[in-house]
Amino acid sequence: MLIVIKLLLFAFVSTLVTLFLFYIHFVFIFDTYFQWFLNDVQDLQEYDYIVVGAGSAGTIIATNLAENGHKILLLEAGGTAPFFLDIPLLGSLIQNTIYDWQYTTVSQDYACKGLINNQSRWPRGKILGGSSRLNYMAYVLGHQLDYETWFPDFDEFTKTDESISISKLKWNTDFADIFLEAIKESNHNISDLNLQLNTGFMKAQLTMENSKRWSSDKLLYKKFNNHLTVLTHAHATKILINLDKTEGIEFIRFGNKYTAIGKEGVILSAGAIESPKLLMLSGIGPKEHLKEFDINVISDLPVGQNLVDHILTGLDLIVLNSSIGLNLSDIFNPMSALSYFLFGKGPWTSSGIEVFGTLYSPLQTNKSVAPDLQLMILPFGASKDNGLISKKAMGISDEVYNKYFAPLLNQNTITIAPVLLHPKSKGELRLRSNDPFQKPLINPKYLSNADDINTLIEGLYFIKKLMNTTTLRKYGASLNKKSFPGCEDHVFDTKEYWKCYIQHLTLTSYHPAGTCRVGDVVDETFKVYNVKNLYIVDASIFPSLPSGNINAPVMAVAQKAVRFFKNKIAEKKRKLKQLKSSNVCYVFNICSNMENCDRFDIFNLVKKKIK
Ligand SMILES: Cc1cc2nc3c(=O)[nH]c(=O)nc-3n(C[C@H](O)[C@H](O)[C@H](O)COP(=O)(O)OP(=O)(O)OC[C@H]3O[C@@H](n4cnc5c(N)ncnc54)[C@H](O)[C@@H]3O)c2cc1C
Repeated sequence: MLIVIKLLLFAFVSTLVTLFLFYIHFVFIFDTYFQWFLNDVQDLQEYDYIVVGAGSAGTIIATNLAENGHKILLLEAGGTAPFFLDIPLLGSLIQNTIYDWQYTTVSQDYACKGLINNQSRWPRGKILGGSSRLNYMAYVLGHQLDYETWFPDFDEFTKTDESISISKLKWNTDFADIFLEAIKESNHNISDLNLQLNTGFMKAQLTMENSKRWSSDKLLYKKFNNHLTVLTHAHATKILINLDKTEGIEFIRFGNKYTAIGKEGVILSAGAIESPKLLMLSGIGPKEHLKEFDINVISDLPVGQNLVDHILTGLDLIVLNSSIGLNLSDIFNPMSALSYFLFGKGPWTSSGIEVFGTLYSPLQTNKSVAPDLQLMILPFGASKDNGLISKKAMGISDEVYNKYFAPLLNQNTITIAPVLLHPKSKGELRLRSNDPFQKPLINPKYLSNADDINTLIEGLYFIKKLMNTTTLRKYGASLNKKSFPGCEDHVFDTKEYWKCYIQHLTLTSYHPAGTCRVGDVVDETFKVYNVKNLYIVDASIFPSLPSGNINAPVMAVAQKAVRFFKNKIAEKKRKLKQLKSSNVCYVFNICSNMENCDRFDIFNLVKKKIK
């Protein structure tokens, strides 16, 4: 009987998911035709700044500079979000759709062996709001030691910004409270880590406003007095650089090629994959690599190198004897829908992550560096949805799913995932060709450094200890003892078994960074080395990963960049004012309406007058 009810529930869920996917594709097509119909883009339009990418960082920069009175063009390759996407629970449904760039890494030599072709799937938002539109909304600031060397004033940019909406969880499963009880029992700190920037555990805080997803595109809904032009479906294909000065950008919209001029500069905020790709296509990158594709080399810089990402494991690792996690019946109960739409409460406000924490593994004895492990607590696993969503999103192979996850369908599984915070393995991103529409080759080289495996094993040992707390024993919590496919030759729970398990179940935590890092590709004023007026502000410039999820730090970096650009502009105005009042201006009467002139312009005007 139970099986029949479950089958009926899955049929119902599949129908709803299919209808939802149909709906979002329909909205995309409608939006595309609508924008195409209204398209009146003029070639060679001039702006103060052009920002490429309306994601977590790009929207913050574009809106703040427009508010400051500058003429800004914001280019976004994707479209506008369909209406229901603000429901937190639905975020992951747009993975693998037209709103996602749908990257996959190259086959991994040491990791991802349980995934199709040993490849990790990397969703990235191709939509206004970028990846903040399809992320799991966890707002995590990390550890104070993360920023000491490269972003010492980090605090300033996280405490002042009221335009970003952060909220406590509006609902959580019983497991979240029970887990925190177990943490208390094992004498670990429970506090607001976003205030302390320290190690310990807490219930997640989310980027959420009135129980709806808050994503950075929400900043675009203010009025900007015509200072901000936002173009969706506009794919930037090349940065236009004359000698060493950036002049503008080339982009394609509805099959037509356009050029836009950025008088003060071009700011790349296209994310950790597309920003380095665009740089390389425009002649900035490793010389030998660019030559392979006959790209004229403007500056030989290590673009695409030092690719880092957080990885995790432990999906469906914990089995309980009672149903205290998230169940499909919680989600599809009509009362849950009512509770969401009427009161902004209930399971539909959940984005998945309920609790997280950071800790030092026993391998990390030096406490003057940032912690090496995070735990993320998800009240469900891949087995809960019968392969409908998580399996596809993560690219788990059929064989692995059928052998390992499918048999767990009738059990109460949840996920306590250890996350490797500071991987020693470093990867790279390279061009596949000089076609701007072709996806790059992404090779994170996961687990190529054996230390990374050992740290994750310590994370699993920590979880094992937690299973022995009185609190969790009450709920029959234990490790799922089924051998992971491919690791059957190892005795369960030996170090060799866990090594094999991690190498098979290697999952991204969706935080790629470092491909244009500060010090290598950009300086601390966000400017690309050796090229004037070209800046990068997004996850690609991080020199190292923070000890937590990366969206909040990306937004903090964007706030810092805003201050830098505002100061730069103010300084320029101040200098101009000085010049205006100088004798040169007075004698030659050339200083009316010259707000945007620089010394060079004045010099030329004087020359003209003399002639
Ligand atoms: C599934 C998923 C879950 C995540 N969960 C969390 C979480 O819970 N908490 C957290 O802190 N972080 C999370 N993250 C990570 C976080 O959301 C990202 O690191 C962050 O949004 C990156 O910001 P960004 O500005 O660098 O890039 P993005 O936000 O990705 O923005 C880049 C923008 O540029 C556009 N673009 C790219 N190329 C071009 C081009 N050539 N022309 C025009 N436009 C272009 C893209 O379409 C996109 O809109 C998650 C990410 C994913 C994918």
